[in-house]
Amino acid sequence: MLLDEQYAEVAFDVPLARTFSYRIPDHLRTRVHRGVRVAGPWRTKAKQGLVIRVTDKPPEGVDPTKIRALVDVIDSQRAVLEPQLALAEWIGGYYLAPIGEAVRLATPPDGHSETSRTVEWVAGEAPSGLRGPAGALAEVLASFARPMDPSDLVNAVRGATHADLATLEEAGLVATEYASDAGLTVRTVDRVQYRGRDDRKLGVAQEKVVRHLEDHGDATDAELRKEFRTSRAVLRGLVARGVIEITAEEVSRDPFEDATERRQSDPPLTPEQAVAVDALVSSGPKTWLLHGVTGSGKTEIYVRLTREVVGRGKRVLVLLPEIALTPQFVGVFRACVDRSIAVLHSGLTPGQKFDQWRAIRGGGVDVVIGARSALFAPLDNIGLIIVDEEHDPSFKQHEGVLYHARDAAVVLAHRLGALCVLGSATPSLETLKNAREGRYGLLELRARVHNRPLPTVDIVDLAHHGATPGDPLSNYISPQLAGRVRTAARRGEQTILFLNRRGFAPTVRCLNCGGVIECDDCDISLTYHMRRNELACHYCDYRVPLPKKCPTCQSEELDKEGAGTEQIAHSIAEGFSDLRVGRLDRDSSRGRGLQKVLGAFRRGELDVLVGTQMVTKGHDFPRVTVVGIVDGDQSLRFPDFRSGERTFQLLTQVAGRAGRAELTGEVILQTHRPEHYVIQAVQTGDYDAFANQELDFRNRLMYPPFAHLFALRVNAPDYGDAIMTARELIEYAQLHGDPSLRITGPTDSPIARVRRRYRVQAMVRAEDRQIVRRAAQLVVYRAQTMSKELAAKKVRWSVDIDAIQLL
Ligand code: ADP
Ligand code: ZN
Ligand code: ZN
Repeated sequence: MLLDEQYAEVAFDVPLARTFSYRIPDHLRTRVHRGVRVAGPWRTKAKQGLVIRVTDKPPEGVDPTKIRALVDVIDSQRAVLEPQLALAEWIGGYYLAPIGEAVRLATPPDGHSETSRTVEWVAGEAPSGLRGPAGALAEVLASFARPMDPSDLVNAVRGATHADLATLEEAGLVATEYASDAGLTVRTVDRVQYRGRDDRKLGVAQEKVVRHLEDHGDATDAELRKEFRTSRAVLRGLVARGVIEITAEEVSRDPFEDATERRQSDPPLTPEQAVAVDALVSSGPKTWLLHGVTGSGKTEIYVRLTREVVGRGKRVLVLLPEIALTPQFVGVFRACVDRSIAVLHSGLTPGQKFDQWRAIRGGGVDVVIGARSALFAPLDNIGLIIVDEEHDPSFKQHEGVLYHARDAAVVLAHRLGALCVLGSATPSLETLKNAREGRYGLLELRARVHNRPLPTVDIVDLAHHGATPGDPLSNYISPQLAGRVRTAARRGEQTILFLNRRGFAPTVRCLNCGGVIECDDCDISLTYHMRRNELACHYCDYRVPLPKKCPTCQSEELDKEGAGTEQIAHSIAEGFSDLRVGRLDRDSSRGRGLQKVLGAFRRGELDVLVGTQMVTKGHDFPRVTVVGIVDGDQSLRFPDFRSGERTFQLLTQVAGRAGRAELTGEVILQTHRPEHYVIQAVQTGDYDAFANQELDFRNRLMYPPFAHLFALRVNAPDYGDAIMTARELIEYAQLHGDPSLRITGPTDSPIARVRRRYRVQAMVRAEDRQIVRRAAQLVVYRAQTMSKELAAKKVRWSVDIDAIQLL
């Protein structure tokens, strides 16, 4: 008998690198497949997991009679499709993440917690032909006439099993509903349809409803209640007589706010665009770098290519770093691609996300546009994956499973035999190297559309610039920049001012004792926010009203040092009282704030937009002619080998917001380091000059893309526990790993304490990817052997393969 058994390997969302095996009971056999969610016994309860494999052999070394049986099957079709499941498995392996956590990335948005399932009789009359346990189940369900818990039901009917219930479900007599703890369900409206009067007289209330339906054909239950205060009983009476019919109709919570007009005709492509489109359309499965300067019309290329690919019956996935920030991008796709488009991003409500996911899973969507997580959208038959702004660090997940969405996209496309396009004005050096060495195809757009000039970049050396007494604006805005803001406004043009720091002032210092007010729980100064007159920690969200006295010496001489976006916006508004100033940062963009600010700026209701890196993203505002970079050196000061690259990207991207339409743009770059090669390259707009110098430096110091690396991060309430753990893990890798490993640290992280936890980190690198991988595996292995001890000391650790942020 045992030979005939089947077993399911199930991944649970737990931080364990292994799957769990269960016996598949006979009545569930036909329903258990890879990619289906099941409930397995877990300690004393049943827990939801995903089937990774079905085998006919019990796991090795386990007594088959000890293997427990699956409790139930959640899905009637695969919850996770093969491409996404295989990708999640790859991610788990490559990033050394627990398989259950990796697989969870691909499970539907309702599946994050225990899903509750209900069954309901939908067949009207109780059946007569059914016998045995299935008949008994049917009778109970039909007489209850409301949703029931399937396990309660099966337990209540003697001899009945889940399989009997499945039979009723397959016969269409029973419907299943899923709801998660978050209450995510399909939203429906009850549609009331008119069928015709019978020969009996109607009541007064019924007459009203029927008249209305005769005039309008149909209505929703909610409309009738609102208009006629119709009660449920009135409608039920009409249903019973066959005068009306009520059906539940699924409605989608539409994430698109406004209708988009279809584009009437396409503009002719520029010669460079045409070359790129031709090459991509005729390309086999391959990855391409589309390196095009800001404003060169990369979106148009994506649109043309997307049309071509959907025309061949394939689907398209588009990944953007910050889709909520660039509604315009989606707008262009909706205007130009006459297919069903879904969007997935963090700005959607859970209900909208659920509906988009269902629509994609239902097979009715041809194009998915989304942020990082859209990589796992249940899209089948993908022919093209586009990653726009491929250099953007936000493609790297920084919590949980630390995957890089761009790299995973390349892997996914490769496995599916799909075309992959990585677009950027400032490609990452990893991608550039891949393209230069021929692993990726390379397409370049060196000119802006219509040969519009790139903006001129004027450098203002802050060393030769002092504040004018009595003019607070002059503290941070040079006379040159102030002058440009004014002239732009006079001409009816707009300005963007970039400063990557929110709040009013990043530091409050006591002039008496010299101390800085810091967060109690983190090693970081508190930022002053003027509007709320409070100090805030940007790491743990701790907030206090601005104290009157220094907490150390009680002096009242507190000085606000430095500036953030709030101060710049404030002093511009004060200094130019006739200008309308808006602000775009995490404080101003909560809730509807984001779309409000962007909309107002787009409509020309604002003259100046002050913002953090949110203003550097792919915005296309035609009336922006001036871009001011308030502190060009800010990101250069980061203690990270990528700070030069990051600075070049940020500054080039924000500069690229100027002069995108008929009007020429100019950029004022304020810096203390005018001679720095990054600042120089931003000024000349010379990506190649920057890249060559940066590559040379990376090569000599053996950093990516000439080496591979991982970061180990450890944090704990006790500093000693954190540093000792990190040392232990690193020493283990050093002892058992390859001698060519280069190890930096462990040392304190630049922000050495957050939320009362001490943070230390180490970087491990080598030229050979396999050597680095092996070292990372050693660290993970050692940490797992120490897990009890680490848990007792509340030590947390993570291994970040291909880490890009070392702060
Ligand atoms: P990029 O993403 O390369 O920075 P965009 O795709 O935003 O640039 O294009 C810049 C601007 O040029 C947009 O306003 C776009 O509508 C316009 N544009 C793109 N291609 C063409 C074309 N072939 N003819 C006319 N305008 C174009
Ligand atoms: Zn003091
Ligand atoms: Zn804090």
